Amino acid sequence: MTVDPQLQKFGLIKRETPRAINLDPLQTGGILTPEARQALTEWGDGYSVCDYCGGMLDQIKTPPIYDFVHKALPAFLGMDHARVTNGARESKFAVMHAMCKEGDWIVLDGNAHYSSMVAAQRARLKIKTVPKTPAPDYRITPEAYAAAIEEVRAESGKPPALALLTYPDGSYGNLPDAKAITKVAHDYKVPIIVNGAYAIGRMPFDGKALGADFVAGSGHKSMAASGPVGVLGVNAPYDATVFQKSPTNKNKEIEFLGCTARGATIMTMIASFPKVVERTQPASWEKEVGDARWFAEQMESIGMRQLGDKPHNHDLMFFEGTVFYDISQKADRYFLYREMKARGIHGIKPGLTKNFKISTLGVGREKLGIVADAFRDIIKKYSA
Ligand SMILES: *Cc1c(COP(=O)(O)O)cnc(C)c1O
Repeated sequence: MTVDPQLQKFGLIKRETPRAINLDPLQTGGILTPEARQALTEWGDGYSVCDYCGGMLDQIKTPPIYDFVHKALPAFLGMDHARVTNGARESKFAVMHAMCKEGDWIVLDGNAHYSSMVAAQRARLKIKTVPKTPAPDYRITPEAYAAAIEEVRAESGKPPALALLTYPDGSYGNLPDAKAITKVAHDYKVPIIVNGAYAIGRMPFDGKALGADFVAGSGHKSMAASGPVGVLGVNAPYDATVFQKSPTNKNKEIEFLGCTARGATIMTMIASFPKVVERTQPASWEKEVGDARWFAEQMESIGMRQLGDKPHNHDLMFFEGTVFYDISQKADRYFLYREMKARGIHGIKPGLTKNFKISTLGVGREKLGIVADAFRDIIKKYSA
């Protein structure tokens, strides 16, 4: 039998060996623990968690999905109820779809992730964006939220059906005053989603303390899980709306299309959970913030400016400056990527020199020192 030449490129594909140091904001929080890496093969078969399922994924006792979803996870999120979803975006979409009808308004911050926009669009909502303050802070303020809600009220005759706050955002790693912003939403009786895709699993997080009605988190972004997998927290009284069951299939929740993460994805999240709980303890997080600030200082000492909250309160940071851009004019735009790669450092997107974001989560002071030295070394090499 002749093999279709098209098929020859498929089959097991090896991954380029992950480099010694990874600063990619998308990846630092999703690097698997050894336990999760093992769970991946252990539970890799399709529907592997369904052996003892009576029809509801979240009720499975063996493996302990019930205890995870109904006990550990709500406590971890600081919310009344939780579900595991296929990602932060699926969590947000489920809430928007359940809480709103076509043509309703949602107010969301000007630093919102694209997935919040497309989730709202898929739910056929009208979007009002809360403007951020100008460069270099790009802050989202409670006053701006109130103004945006007022605008919706003026245009449509009533407040928006829902609000969303990104905490922190994925561009600058800014942590807005969530408590004050959720209070503004509640003053107008608007329920609010706190999108914690970059918070939940990285830093201490308590949805109720933040005043959230809903929280969304990402397993593959921030909970050392192999995705797609996410978490959703819901506070009373909205659980009845979001967890509505199908009238025809009485143990299937409509917004989750019956079942969500039903295999290796949820099991990697559970495998990493003890270590994720550990890394979100205040002492561990303080150390991470200390490392981020130290690294920002190193970058500023070579002429790159850190934008957003300053001093910074998160591992995700945005830098801007002309040091490497100027070199790229003499060399080529990929020189920085190439030089970093040669030093075993991954995470700055190919072609970026004038501005880039990086994450220091879990990298540690020693390796961050190596990165800072690498930047200095590269500058020296090209100024010779
Ligand atoms: C990465 C990211 C998301 C998307 O998370 P998924 O789990 O992949 O859906 C949503 N919001 C923010 C702020 C993000 O950074």
